[in-house]
Amino acid sequence: MLHLTGPVLADDGAGCWRALPEAWVFEGKILYSEPDGVGQGWQEISGWAIPGLADVHAHIGLGADGEVDRETAEQQALAEARKGVLLIRDAGSPQDTRWVQGRDDLPRLIRAGRHVARPKRYTRNFARELEDVSDLPEALAEEARSGDGWVKLVADWIDRDTGVLGPLWPDEVLVDAFAAVHESGARVTAHSFCREAIDGLLEAGIDCIEHGTGMDSDHISEAARRGIAVTPTMIQIDRFEEFAQRGDARFPEYAAQMRAMYVRREEQFAAFVDAGLTILPGSDAGGELPHGLVPKELARWVSIGMPAAEALHRGAARARQYLATPRHPELDEGLSLLRHLARSEAESQDPGAYVGSASVPGFCDSGLRPPRRMTSDDEIGWLRDGDSADLALYPSDPREDISVLETPSAVILRGAVIGG
Ligand SMILES: [Zn+2]
Repeated sequence: MLHLTGPVLADDGAGCWRALPEAWVFEGKILYSEPDGVGQGWQEISGWAIPGLADVHAHIGLGADGEVDRETAEQQALAEARKGVLLIRDAGSPQDTRWVQGRDDLPRLIRAGRHVARPKRYTRNFARELEDVSDLPEALAEEARSGDGWVKLVADWIDRDTGVLGPLWPDEVLVDAFAAVHESGARVTAHSFCREAIDGLLEAGIDCIEHGTGMDSDHISEAARRGIAVTPTMIQIDRFEEFAQRGDARFPEYAAQMRAMYVRREEQFAAFVDAGLTILPGSDAGGELPHGLVPKELARWVSIGMPAAEALHRGAARARQYLATPRHPELDEGLSLLRHLARSEAESQDPGAYVGSASVPGFCDSGLRPPRRMTSDDEIGWLRDGDSADLALYPSDPREDISVLETPSAVILRGAVIGG
């Protein structure tokens, strides 16, 4: 039983913040009027409250050398929670992290299964690697069945034979693979740095793009038109110059590609914003970066020119709303038409080049549970009256100074104080 003495910044989901004078946390829920008949015994907590931040690109269970042990993964999840991040969509993990979902003191987790890549075409020990590209539809369908409604594909990476960044998968394979994922009700997000991979992803019906540094203006408007979200991961992109230097001696062409994207990274971010794209907060923690970087990511957006109130909205309520919204049936209908057209085109150009996997089994036959669904009505809320009390409190208004996100004075998850 908590009494929040406010102000409570409740975002209506459309980007408007209402500063409410006070709120109550009772039986795990946030309430804006004092519940009747409960009596005394409220614990008072002061501070500016906002919905818990989201990290849509964090790898729980992944370290620099691949899978980490459970204790390390637990520390990763706790590091996110300490920074007020209470909802995570992992972006691929070698560890089966279902156990996180059984822990009330750890952030809510939407799992994407393992990243899917090809041998020598991604960081070693991170991904499930497919020798044969035509196994992709089956592999992604499997990951969709074991995840929570998302799968993660590595769309492009350096090819050490040619020394340049390029796509991992033929376009027609992507078409079938995404169809298999969508048939099971899940969504696909893809790691993509380079321009060459984007057409194939868009044609195959990608749902979300990680990094997106290679998207040109046509790609960006198309993504905006179709409601495809992008996770710009600016903290990671700020390291592209360092990646370029690592490649300078052996892979000069790759280094030039990385450097060009590094140079125009802020321009790219501004183009995402101007096009009206759904931009998601993602830290890319796990691997080389530590966990708990979403406050830095949002501050970085502000440093490029986004108003702090907007960065806060995108980092909390908007991201939550996005993750809570299931795929739209009309979108699926449009996509199946697109897929049909893409397939007939591919077949007319090179008949027999790739035989699609019409036999990818639906999750109903698999004996595995269907993807876990989180809906706005039960688990993911943004401090509407009656939502789960998942929130962080700060000593001052984060809309005035975003840097206060680094130091929450209290963190409340599922109605219980877990930190601060
Ligand atoms: Zn990542």
